[in-house]
Amino acid sequence: MHPETIAIHVGQACDQLTGAVAAPIHLSTTFERAEDGGFPSGFVYGRDGNPNRHSLEACLAALEGGVEAAAFASGMAAITAAIESLPTGLPRRLVLPDDMYFGIRALIDETDIGARFDWVAVDMTDLAAVKAACAEPTGLVWMETPSNPLIKIVDIEAVARIARAAGALVAVDNTWATPLLQRPFALGADIVVHSLTKYVGGHSDVMIGAVVLRENGPQLTLLRAIQNHKGAVPSPFDCWLALRGMQSLSARMRVHCANAELVAQFLAGHPAVAAVHYPALESHPGHAVAKRQMRSFGGMLAFEVHGGREEAMRFAAGLQLITRATSLGGTHTLIEHRASVEGPQTMAPEGLLRLSVGLEHPDDLIADLVAAFAACSVSRS
Ligand SMILES: *Cc1c(COP(=O)(O)O)cnc(C)c1O
Repeated sequence: MHPETIAIHVGQACDQLTGAVAAPIHLSTTFERAEDGGFPSGFVYGRDGNPNRHSLEACLAALEGGVEAAAFASGMAAITAAIESLPTGLPRRLVLPDDMYFGIRALIDETDIGARFDWVAVDMTDLAAVKAACAEPTGLVWMETPSNPLIKIVDIEAVARIARAAGALVAVDNTWATPLLQRPFALGADIVVHSLTKYVGGHSDVMIGAVVLRENGPQLTLLRAIQNHKGAVPSPFDCWLALRGMQSLSARMRVHCANAELVAQFLAGHPAVAAVHYPALESHPGHAVAKRQMRSFGGMLAFEVHGGREEAMRFAAGLQLITRATSLGGTHTLIEHRASVEGPQTMAPEGLLRLSVGLEHPDDLIADLVAAFAACSVSRS
Protein backbone atom coordinates (compact mmCIF):
# COMPACT_ATOMS: atom_id res chain seq x y z
CA MET A 1 0.00 0.00 0.00
CA HIS A 2 1.09 3.56 -0.66
CA PRO A 3 1.42 5.95 2.30
CA GLU A 4 -1.75 7.84 1.31
CA THR A 5 -3.70 4.57 1.57
CA ILE A 6 -1.97 3.44 4.78
CA ALA A 7 -2.97 6.75 6.39
CA ILE A 8 -6.65 5.96 5.77
CA HIS A 9 -6.80 2.19 6.22
CA VAL A 10 -4.18 0.79 8.59
CA GLY A 11 -5.55 0.30 12.12
CA GLN A 12 -8.89 1.60 10.89
CA ALA A 13 -11.12 -1.30 9.89
CA CYS A 14 -14.85 -0.56 10.00
CA ASP A 15 -16.40 -1.14 13.43
CA GLN A 16 -17.32 -4.84 13.68
CA LEU A 17 -20.35 -4.29 15.87
CA THR A 18 -22.06 -1.42 14.05
CA GLY A 19 -20.41 -1.18 10.65
CA ALA A 20 -19.46 2.44 11.40
CA VAL A 21 -16.97 3.68 8.80
CA ALA A 22 -15.69 6.51 10.99
CA ALA A 23 -14.23 4.99 14.14
CA PRO A 24 -16.18 5.21 17.39
CA ILE A 25 -14.44 6.89 20.35
CA HIS A 26 -13.96 4.41 23.18
CA LEU A 27 -14.10 6.37 26.41
CA SER A 28 -14.20 3.32 28.68
CA THR A 29 -11.25 3.18 31.08
CA THR A 30 -11.79 -0.51 31.83
CA PHE A 31 -12.58 -3.63 29.82
CA GLU A 32 -14.50 -6.77 30.75
CA ARG A 33 -12.73 -9.99 31.58
CA ALA A 34 -13.78 -13.31 30.07
CA GLU A 35 -15.01 -16.11 32.35
CA ASP A 36 -11.54 -17.59 32.41
CA GLY A 37 -10.10 -14.25 33.58
CA GLY A 38 -8.57 -13.41 30.20
CA PHE A 39 -9.04 -10.30 28.09
CA PRO A 40 -10.23 -11.47 24.67
CA SER A 41 -10.11 -7.93 23.22
CA GLY A 42 -6.52 -7.41 24.38
CA PHE A 43 -7.56 -4.33 26.38
CA VAL A 44 -7.48 -4.21 30.19
CA TYR A 45 -7.24 -0.64 31.48
CA GLY A 46 -7.14 2.73 29.70
CA ARG A 47 -3.61 3.69 30.70
CA ASP A 48 -2.01 0.57 29.27
CA GLY A 49 -4.17 0.38 26.17
CA ASN A 50 -7.22 1.82 24.44
CA PRO A 51 -8.70 1.01 21.01
CA ASN A 52 -8.29 4.57 19.68
CA ARG A 53 -4.68 4.78 20.82
CA HIS A 54 -4.00 1.34 19.41
CA SER A 55 -5.38 2.40 15.99
CA LEU A 56 -3.28 5.57 15.91
CA GLU A 57 -0.13 3.72 16.94
CA ALA A 58 -0.66 1.01 14.32
CA CYS A 59 -1.22 3.55 11.56
CA LEU A 60 1.78 5.72 12.46
CA ALA A 61 4.11 2.72 12.83
CA ALA A 62 3.06 1.49 9.38
CA LEU A 63 3.52 4.93 7.81
CA GLU A 64 7.02 5.33 9.23
CA GLY A 65 7.93 1.71 8.51
CA GLY A 66 8.70 1.04 12.18
CA VAL A 67 7.85 -1.94 14.35
CA GLU A 68 5.66 -0.08 16.85
CA ALA A 69 4.63 3.42 17.86
CA ALA A 70 3.81 4.64 21.36
CA ALA A 71 1.55 7.69 21.69
CA PHE A 72 1.95 10.28 24.44
CA ALA A 73 0.02 13.28 25.77
CA SER A 74 2.23 15.74 23.86
CA GLY A 75 5.27 15.90 21.63
CA MET A 76 7.39 16.82 24.67
CA ALA A 77 6.14 13.79 26.62
CA ALA A 78 7.15 11.68 23.60
CA ILE A 79 10.60 13.32 23.42
CA THR A 80 11.11 12.77 27.16
CA ALA A 81 10.18 9.10 26.76
CA ALA A 82 12.48 8.71 23.73
CA ILE A 83 15.41 10.00 25.80
CA GLU A 84 14.52 8.09 28.97
CA SER A 85 14.12 4.82 27.07
CA LEU A 86 17.77 4.85 26.01
CA PRO A 87 18.69 1.21 26.75
CA THR A 88 20.91 0.56 29.78
CA GLY A 89 24.48 -0.05 28.73
CA LEU A 90 24.57 2.88 26.31
CA PRO A 91 26.46 6.01 27.43
CA ARG A 92 24.18 8.63 29.06
CA ARG A 93 25.38 11.26 26.62
CA LEU A 94 23.31 12.97 23.93
CA VAL A 95 24.55 14.77 20.83
CA LEU A 96 21.86 17.35 20.05
CA PRO A 97 21.41 19.91 17.26
CA ASP A 98 22.44 23.45 18.22
CA ASP A 99 19.11 24.67 16.86
CA MET A 100 17.08 22.00 18.71
CA TYR A 101 13.39 22.61 19.35
CA PHE A 102 13.51 25.06 22.26
CA GLY A 103 11.33 22.79 24.42
CA ILE A 104 14.17 20.25 24.49
CA ARG A 105 16.54 22.96 25.67
CA ALA A 106 14.11 23.82 28.48
CA LEU A 107 13.64 20.11 29.33
CA ILE A 108 17.39 19.83 29.88
CA ASP A 109 17.83 23.14 31.70
CA GLU A 110 14.78 22.96 33.96
CA THR A 111 14.12 19.25 34.71
CA ASP A 112 16.08 16.24 35.93
CA ILE A 113 16.83 15.20 32.33
CA GLY A 114 19.76 17.64 32.35
CA ALA A 115 21.21 15.99 35.46
CA ARG A 116 20.69 12.45 34.23
CA PHE A 117 22.18 12.94 30.76
CA ASP A 118 25.32 14.67 29.55
CA TRP A 119 24.81 16.49 26.33
CA VAL A 120 26.52 18.58 23.71
CA ALA A 121 24.96 20.72 20.96
CA VAL A 122 26.44 20.84 17.46
CA ASP A 123 25.58 22.19 14.03
CA MET A 124 24.23 19.02 12.44
CA THR A 125 24.88 20.36 8.93
CA ASP A 126 28.62 20.33 9.77
CA LEU A 127 29.53 16.63 9.49
CA ALA A 128 33.04 17.19 10.83
CA ALA A 129 31.55 18.76 13.95
CA VAL A 130 29.16 15.81 14.34
CA LYS A 131 32.09 13.40 14.02
CA ALA A 132 34.10 15.32 16.61
CA ALA A 133 31.12 15.34 19.01
CA CYS A 134 30.71 11.57 18.57
CA ALA A 135 34.36 10.95 19.42
CA GLU A 136 33.36 10.83 23.09
CA PRO A 137 31.16 7.89 24.16
CA THR A 138 27.65 8.75 22.93
CA GLY A 139 24.31 7.04 23.50
CA LEU A 140 22.04 9.03 21.24
CA VAL A 141 22.40 11.41 18.29
CA TRP A 142 19.34 13.60 17.77
CA MET A 143 18.32 15.28 14.51
CA GLU A 144 15.57 17.70 13.62
CA THR A 145 15.12 18.45 9.94
CA PRO A 146 13.90 20.82 8.60
CA SER A 147 14.97 22.73 11.71
CA ASN A 148 13.73 25.64 13.71
CA PRO A 149 14.07 28.60 13.09
CA LEU A 150 16.45 28.70 10.09
CA ILE A 151 14.85 25.76 8.24
CA LYS A 152 18.23 24.05 8.06
CA ILE A 153 18.35 20.67 6.35
CA VAL A 154 20.34 17.89 8.01
CA ASP A 155 21.63 14.98 5.92
CA ILE A 156 20.00 12.17 7.93
CA GLU A 157 21.87 9.38 6.14
CA ALA A 158 25.30 10.99 6.64
CA VAL A 159 24.76 11.84 10.32
CA ALA A 160 23.27 8.39 10.99
CA ARG A 161 26.36 6.76 9.50
CA ILE A 162 28.65 8.75 11.82
CA ALA A 163 26.44 8.00 14.84
CA ARG A 164 26.30 4.27 14.13
CA ALA A 165 30.06 4.07 13.67
CA ALA A 166 30.30 5.61 17.16
CA GLY A 167 27.88 3.00 18.56
CA ALA A 168 25.11 5.53 19.22
CA LEU A 169 21.41 5.26 18.49
CA VAL A 170 19.92 7.73 16.01
CA ALA A 171 16.74 9.73 16.64
CA VAL A 172 14.95 12.01 14.20
CA ASP A 173 12.23 14.48 15.15
CA ASN A 174 10.08 14.13 12.03
CA THR A 175 7.41 16.63 13.10
CA TRP A 176 8.05 19.24 10.43
CA ALA A 177 8.46 16.82 7.52
CA THR A 178 5.66 14.43 8.59
CA PRO A 179 5.82 10.71 7.77
CA LEU A 180 4.66 11.51 4.26
CA LEU A 181 7.56 13.75 3.21
CA GLN A 182 10.48 12.03 4.95
CA ARG A 183 11.17 8.43 6.02
CA PRO A 184 13.99 8.51 8.62
CA PHE A 185 14.12 4.73 9.16
CA ALA A 186 15.06 4.21 5.51
CA LEU A 187 17.92 6.68 6.05
CA GLY A 188 19.38 4.93 9.10
CA ALA A 189 17.37 6.20 12.10
CA ASP A 190 16.45 3.94 15.04
CA ILE A 191 13.91 6.25 16.67
CA VAL A 192 11.41 8.69 15.14
CA VAL A 193 9.53 11.16 17.30
CA HIS A 194 6.56 13.31 16.42
CA SER A 195 4.62 16.16 17.81
CA LEU A 196 1.34 15.07 16.24
CA THR A 197 0.00 18.38 17.56
CA LYS A 198 1.28 19.97 14.35
CA TYR A 199 0.65 18.66 10.81
CA VAL A 200 -0.86 15.29 11.71
CA GLY A 201 -3.55 16.78 13.96
CA GLY A 202 -3.54 19.52 11.38
CA HIS A 203 -6.20 21.84 12.81
CA SER A 204 -4.53 23.35 15.92
CA ASP A 205 -6.96 21.56 18.21
CA VAL A 206 -5.16 18.58 19.77
CA MET A 207 -1.98 18.11 21.83
CA ILE A 208 -0.41 14.70 21.22
CA GLY A 209 2.91 13.08 20.39
CA ALA A 210 4.46 9.72 19.57
CA VAL A 211 7.68 7.73 19.50
CA VAL A 212 8.18 5.15 16.75
CA LEU A 213 10.90 2.50 16.99
CA ARG A 214 12.42 0.68 14.06
CA GLU A 215 13.05 -2.57 15.89
CA ASN A 216 11.71 -4.71 18.66
CA GLY A 217 14.04 -4.96 21.66
CA PRO A 218 14.87 -3.63 25.12
CA GLN A 219 14.16 -0.02 24.14
CA LEU A 220 10.61 -0.89 23.10
CA THR A 221 10.03 -2.72 26.39
CA LEU A 222 11.29 0.30 28.32
CA LEU A 223 9.29 2.73 26.15
CA ARG A 224 6.06 0.81 26.84
CA ALA A 225 6.88 0.76 30.56
CA ILE A 226 7.39 4.53 30.56
CA GLN A 227 4.17 5.06 28.62
CA ASN A 228 2.15 2.88 30.99
CA HIS A 229 3.75 3.54 34.39
CA LYS A 230 4.76 7.18 34.06
CA GLY A 231 1.32 7.49 32.49
CA ALA A 232 1.57 10.54 30.16
CA VAL A 233 -0.94 8.99 27.78
CA PRO A 234 -3.21 10.84 25.35
CA SER A 235 -6.98 10.61 25.78
CA PRO A 236 -9.07 8.48 23.41
CA PHE A 237 -10.46 11.67 21.85
CA ASP A 238 -6.94 13.06 21.29
CA CYS A 239 -6.01 9.82 19.52
CA TRP A 240 -9.19 9.93 17.47
CA LEU A 241 -8.49 13.52 16.36
CA ALA A 242 -4.90 12.71 15.44
CA LEU A 243 -5.93 9.70 13.40
CA ARG A 244 -8.65 11.69 11.68
CA GLY A 245 -5.98 14.24 10.80
CA MET A 246 -3.77 11.47 9.44
CA GLN A 247 -6.45 10.55 6.90
CA SER A 248 -6.25 13.94 5.18
CA LEU A 249 -2.53 14.55 5.79
CA SER A 250 -1.38 13.84 2.26
CA ALA A 251 -3.96 16.16 0.69
CA ARG A 252 -3.18 18.91 3.19
CA MET A 253 0.58 18.56 2.80
CA ARG A 254 0.31 19.04 -0.96
CA VAL A 255 -1.38 22.40 -0.38
CA HIS A 256 0.93 23.44 2.49
CA CYS A 257 3.96 22.74 0.27
CA ALA A 258 2.57 24.42 -2.85
CA ASN A 259 1.50 27.51 -0.89
CA ALA A 260 4.85 27.74 0.92
CA GLU A 261 6.69 27.59 -2.40
CA LEU A 262 4.62 30.47 -3.82
CA VAL A 263 5.01 32.58 -0.66
CA ALA A 264 8.78 31.91 -0.60
CA GLN A 265 9.12 32.99 -4.21
CA PHE A 266 7.17 36.16 -3.52
CA LEU A 267 9.30 36.99 -0.45
CA ALA A 268 12.56 36.25 -2.30
CA GLY A 269 11.63 38.91 -4.85
CA HIS A 270 10.61 41.61 -2.34
CA PRO A 271 13.05 44.49 -1.70
CA ALA A 272 12.19 44.68 2.04
CA VAL A 273 13.32 41.08 2.53
CA ALA A 274 16.98 40.42 3.36
CA ALA A 275 16.85 36.60 3.24
CA VAL A 276 14.39 33.77 2.73
CA HIS A 277 14.99 30.36 4.29
CA TYR A 278 13.08 27.70 2.39
CA PRO A 279 14.69 24.52 1.03
CA ALA A 280 12.87 24.59 -2.32
CA LEU A 281 14.88 27.70 -3.23
CA GLU A 282 18.08 26.78 -5.04
CA SER A 283 19.87 29.42 -2.97
CA HIS A 284 19.14 27.41 0.22
CA PRO A 285 22.29 25.57 1.41
CA GLY A 286 20.26 22.42 2.11
CA HIS A 287 18.45 22.38 -1.24
CA ALA A 288 20.28 19.35 -2.70
CA VAL A 289 19.95 17.25 0.48
CA ALA A 290 16.28 18.19 0.87
CA LYS A 291 15.63 17.21 -2.73
CA ARG A 292 17.20 13.82 -2.06
CA GLN A 293 15.69 12.97 1.31
CA MET A 294 12.30 14.70 1.21
CA ARG A 295 9.38 14.04 -1.07
CA SER A 296 8.56 17.73 -1.06
CA PHE A 297 9.90 20.79 0.77
CA GLY A 298 7.34 21.29 3.51
CA GLY A 299 5.12 24.10 4.72
CA MET A 300 7.55 25.95 7.02
CA LEU A 301 9.65 28.92 5.98
CA ALA A 302 11.43 31.82 7.60
CA PHE A 303 12.45 35.20 6.26
CA GLU A 304 14.46 38.14 7.49
CA VAL A 305 13.43 41.74 6.99
CA HIS A 306 15.87 44.61 6.76
CA GLY A 307 15.92 46.65 9.97
CA GLY A 308 15.98 43.92 12.64
CA ARG A 309 13.58 43.35 15.50
CA GLU A 310 11.66 46.61 15.34
CA GLU A 311 10.91 46.27 11.65
CA ALA A 312 10.00 42.58 12.01
CA MET A 313 7.52 43.34 14.80
CA ARG A 314 6.08 46.28 12.86
CA PHE A 315 5.62 44.09 9.80
CA ALA A 316 3.91 41.29 11.77
CA ALA A 317 1.65 43.83 13.48
CA GLY A 318 0.45 45.03 10.06
CA LEU A 319 -0.87 41.64 8.93
CA GLN A 320 -4.64 41.22 8.81
CA LEU A 321 -5.18 37.63 7.61
CA ILE A 322 -2.00 35.91 8.77
CA THR A 323 -2.25 35.24 12.50
CA ARG A 324 0.46 36.13 15.02
CA ALA A 325 0.69 32.92 17.04
CA THR A 326 3.11 30.17 17.93
CA SER A 327 2.90 26.57 16.67
CA LEU A 328 2.56 25.26 13.15
CA GLY A 329 0.95 22.74 10.85
CA GLY A 330 -2.66 23.92 11.10
CA THR A 331 -5.06 25.27 8.51
CA HIS A 332 -4.35 28.92 9.42
CA THR A 333 -1.15 30.62 8.31
CA LEU A 334 0.77 31.61 11.46
CA ILE A 335 3.64 34.05 11.84
CA GLU A 336 6.04 34.30 14.75
CA HIS A 337 9.03 36.37 15.82
CA ARG A 338 11.12 33.48 17.16
CA ALA A 339 13.81 35.58 18.85
CA SER A 340 11.31 37.06 21.30
CA VAL A 341 9.71 33.64 21.97
CA GLU A 342 12.99 31.82 22.58
CA GLY A 343 14.74 34.48 24.65
CA PRO A 344 18.48 35.02 25.13
CA GLN A 345 19.55 31.52 23.99
CA THR A 346 17.90 31.94 20.59
CA MET A 347 19.61 31.12 17.31
CA ALA A 348 17.05 33.30 15.49
CA PRO A 349 18.25 36.59 13.99
CA GLU A 350 16.28 39.59 15.33
CA GLY A 351 14.84 40.37 11.91
CA LEU A 352 13.58 36.82 11.38
CA LEU A 353 9.93 35.86 11.13
CA ARG A 354 8.80 32.27 10.86
CA LEU A 355 5.77 31.34 8.79
CA SER A 356 3.71 28.18 9.04
CA VAL A 357 2.01 28.44 5.68
CA GLY A 358 -1.60 27.29 5.94
CA LEU A 359 -4.30 26.21 3.55
CA GLU A 360 -5.74 29.60 2.57
CA HIS A 361 -5.62 30.66 -1.09
CA PRO A 362 -2.01 31.71 -1.81
CA ASP A 363 -3.13 34.93 -3.51
CA ASP A 364 -4.84 36.05 -0.29
CA LEU A 365 -1.73 35.28 1.75
CA ILE A 366 0.50 37.19 -0.66
CA ALA A 367 -1.93 40.13 -0.73
CA ASP A 368 -1.75 40.29 3.08
CA LEU A 369 2.07 40.28 2.95
CA VAL A 370 2.08 42.98 0.26
CA ALA A 371 -0.21 45.21 2.36
CA ALA A 372 1.89 44.74 5.52
CA PHE A 373 5.10 45.64 3.68
CA ALA A 374 3.38 48.75 2.28
CA ALA A 375 2.12 49.75 5.76
CA CYS A 376 5.65 49.34 7.12
CA SER A 377 7.22 51.64 4.56
CA VAL A 378 4.44 54.23 5.09
CA SER A 379 4.96 54.22 8.86
CA ARG A 380 8.71 54.57 8.36
CA SER A 381 8.50 57.59 6.01
C1 LIG B 1 5.98 21.44 18.65
C2 LIG B 1 7.18 20.62 18.52
C3 LIG B 1 7.58 19.75 19.53
C4 LIG B 1 6.83 19.66 20.86
O1 LIG B 1 5.56 19.12 20.70
P1 LIG B 1 4.31 19.45 21.68
O2 LIG B 1 3.21 18.65 21.07
O3 LIG B 1 4.12 20.93 21.66
O4 LIG B 1 4.69 18.98 23.04
C5 LIG B 1 8.71 18.99 19.34
N1 LIG B 1 9.43 19.07 18.21
C6 LIG B 1 9.08 19.90 17.22
C7 LIG B 1 9.92 19.94 15.99
C8 LIG B 1 7.96 20.70 17.32
O5 LIG B 1 7.63 21.53 16.33
